[in-house]
Amino acid sequence: MRFLITGAAGFLGSALANRLAAEGHSVLALDDLSAGDPKKLSEQVKFIRGDVNDRSRLWTLLQEVDCVYHLAARVSVPESVLYPREYNQVNVGGTVTLMEAMRDVGVHRVVMASSGTVYGEQVLQPVSEQAIPNPRSPYAVSKIAAEYYVRTIGSLWHIETVCLRVFNAYGPGQRVPSVHAPVIPWFLRQAWENGTLVVHGDGSQTRDFVYIDDVVDAMVAAATAEDVDQQIINVGSGTETSLVELVHEVLEVTGGNPEVVYYPRNEGGLSRLCADIHLAREKLGYNPTTPLADGLKSTLEDYLAHREND
Ligand code: NAD
Repeated sequence: MRFLITGAAGFLGSALANRLAAEGHSVLALDDLSAGDPKKLSEQVKFIRGDVNDRSRLWTLLQEVDCVYHLAARVSVPESVLYPREYNQVNVGGTVTLMEAMRDVGVHRVVMASSGTVYGEQVLQPVSEQAIPNPRSPYAVSKIAAEYYVRTIGSLWHIETVCLRVFNAYGPGQRVPSVHAPVIPWFLRQAWENGTLVVHGDGSQTRDFVYIDDVVDAMVAAATAEDVDQQIINVGSGTETSLVELVHEVLEVTGGNPEVVYYPRNEGGLSRLCADIHLAREKLGYNPTTPLADGLKSTLEDYLAHREND
């Protein structure tokens, strides 16, 4: 098949692009490099630097494409609190531009990377797709708005749409920016260097940490699965892990002896979040296989192999 992936030089996009190319598919990788790194892409992937809001560029790229994966986005919850307008322009505006271009060219299917954060605070855990979204940050609002645009424009123009609500993905290749770093690569780095692990709150808050290979499995399946048009599907591990448990696992894997400090809880931080993955199992044949300890080990090995480049 022929794919276009937006945001393809990022953490999830590059892993997806490399997997599809290794399976023999033709892969066009679009990214503006605001956060991505094209060096992560294998030689079989054709990289194009460009903005997802560039409609005429999209018209050209979409010719003969069978399925689009839409991953281009700004992805930090705390950053979105500071710059909501940018999050709206890229995550919502970019999605609408892409859908319009897909409509014009006549592309058959789009798989959008949405997020488990759209659920916000929910009493019932694990959270199923039936839960009413309760977004708590501009990032979460932008993802739910993008979902609505994808599904609405899709149904009006007969474009099949699948929105995957990815929970806390982690694994090799995840960037560790100097501010607002994702918790797993940051904790691993700090523990290995015997630095400080900062936990916001008492550490009882939970998340669903899902390994990148499992997420890519779900994404690959979504391109060809039958009977998935208009579906919203959770992609997590299905396991709820508290931050205290995560710290424990990180210390086990690294053998480090960092200082662990507890700061006041972040404003807007969720107390629990775990995915109900029954629908993904049913619709995508999804079966996450990487336990947290194994995933942390591979992530640490990747960090150690590449740290001189950081
Ligand atoms: P990432 O930042 O590594 O990847 C996003 C990519 O999009 C980057 O390479 C960036 O350069 C690119 N991009 C940003 N603005 C762009 C624009 N205007 N035009 C073209 N490219 C642009 O983040 P990621 O973790 O790989 O996330 C990928 C997608 O998955 C995002 O849509 C994100 O919302 C979603 N998601 C990720 C997670 C996770 O845990 N990693 C969880 C839920 C959802």
